[in-house]
Amino acid sequence: MAVYLHEEDLPEGVLAPGIVAVDTETMGLVTTRDRLCLVQISDGKGDEHLVRFANGSSYDAPNLKAVLADPARIKLFHFARFDLAAIHHYLGVMATPVFCTKIASKLVRTYTDRHGLKDLVRELLGKEISKQQQSSDWGAASLTDPQQEYAASDVRYLHAMHQILVERLAREGRTEMAQAAYDFLPTRALLDIAGWADRDIFSHE
Ligand code: MN
Repeated sequence: MAVYLHEEDLPEGVLAPGIVAVDTETMGLVTTRDRLCLVQISDGKGDEHLVRFANGSSYDAPNLKAVLADPARIKLFHFARFDLAAIHHYLGVMATPVFCTKIASKLVRTYTDRHGLKDLVRELLGKEISKQQQSSDWGAASLTDPQQEYAASDVRYLHAMHQILVERLAREGRTEMAQAAYDFLPTRALLDIAGWADRDIFSHE
């Protein structure tokens, strides 16, 4: 089990077929302003791959884009809405089909309002992850070991949580509702970029 750092693209053939866990790190929360710095990806077998994009990158990453756009691979995210927007804006692909552990958590863990990754990993898997590097400088020329470990840990537990959340959604009769929400996520991400980030188009106002 290891963390691999790659520059500008994923090497070919490093991922097993099937579901992949994906996360991104950016310069901030405003997608069109704050560039995509890192894409983390794991096939759930124990390794995490980090793909770093330098300042001024052309984001020409054919291997990574092929995996992200592969309709045969479900992509697991925690808060897919943000990652889908960043990936679409910088890499030009829509990373579907999607399973979002934050949405699943909101649909089944109705007894809490704590749906952050750290809280979910702790409750479902009994593991502790650190969020200390979350707000660090992801645009730096080289990433520190703590940054790389943090970035890898953000995709490390999504496969295990996916299995549990699939069961919980079925138990609560909310599988179809979750799927419908995931199916809308690409549109939600595009609305964010198009200027409706802070507007709920379903609300009366
Ligand atoms: Mn992250």
